[in-house]
Amino acid sequence: MPHCAAYFLRNKRLRDSDFRYHLAYMRAALTLAQRAFSADEIPVGAVVVLENKIIGRGYNRSLSQSDPTAHAEILALRQAARRVGNYRLTLATLYCTLEPCAMCAGALVLARIRLLVYGARDNKAGAIDSHLNLLAAHFLNHRVEVISGVLEEESSALLKEFFRLKRRKKLF
Ligand SMILES: [Zn+2]
Repeated sequence: MPHCAAYFLRNKRLRDSDFRYHLAYMRAALTLAQRAFSADEIPVGAVVVLENKIIGRGYNRSLSQSDPTAHAEILALRQAARRVGNYRLTLATLYCTLEPCAMCAGALVLARIRLLVYGARDNKAGAIDSHLNLLAAHFLNHRVEVISGVLEEESSALLKEFFRLKRRKKLF
């Protein structure tokens, strides 16, 4: 398995078996990001996993739904919470292809998500590592563990391609 040592759980190295486990669900999130790309939305995808099952899926739909809160993570959390009949998803993991923003980080805490796994860093709005370390804020009474960098290159390449095409469209 390539680059295993590059993945950390709060600075602890991931075992290969854990890495492969997370990779499988991140692939599902990436497939959703590709669906967003096809729908001309910013290509970010997310899934919520509970007991080895995907219980929530989402991809960015802010444009098509005219909804500033329609981020992949929020839509995946909504579906998951409806499915289990509880807004608390205490033992669930959320996989997202991009580092969550402040709104989504807040939603992860409200949903009591146990673990967040994300792919690429978001240098514009990332609130987990890039600009803020929101999940480590002292006033929050719930801790979300974080793993970053899973399918980072693929997630980031999709975003770059999306914005490259957008810029090109603007030129004509
Ligand atoms: Zn967000």
